[in-house]
Amino acid sequence: MIPKRVHIEDLPSENGTYLSALFCREQGCRGLVIPVQTRTLQPDWRCITCENVFPHAKMAKYQDFALNTINNRINSCSVQDMIHFINELCPRFCPSSNYVLIEAKLNVIWRMTRFDHEEYTPEEMGHMDRYREEVLAILHKLGAGECTLKKLITGEIQ
Ligand SMILES: [Zn+2]
Repeated sequence: MIPKRVHIEDLPSENGTYLSALFCREQGCRGLVIPVQTRTLQPDWRCITCENVFPHAKMAKYQDFALNTINNRINSCSVQDMIHFINELCPRFCPSSNYVLIEAKLNVIWRMTRFDHEEYTPEEMGHMDRYREEVLAILHKLGAGECTLKKLITGEIQ
């Protein structure tokens, strides 16, 4: 029997944003795993690189782990620690396109823009600017119009 192949373009990439993408669990593969578009509420996930399929339960557990890890940091870390966490630790377990990481970046942006900029080093400001560009690029891909989030990020609302 020939296994049924799913074409990459048939997979839901959420307009190329990969908001729910996670790293492949296959050893040696660092591909992105995304839910296969089906009508079921608990879709299997497929790696876009090695095409391995992972059951929903396994990926849900992984997603919870990433979400909890990042949420714990958001609630307990300083801005400086968050920047280090986002830049150094997150890339090990969470693709930069994942919405959980987007949320962490938004958290840093908001905490930094709420206070006097002089409190932060030019390097920290540089990281924030990069996060802002990344979040705006994702909003652009999603086709977001002039939404409140976009205005907040670009600093039009004081
Ligand atoms: Zn893979």
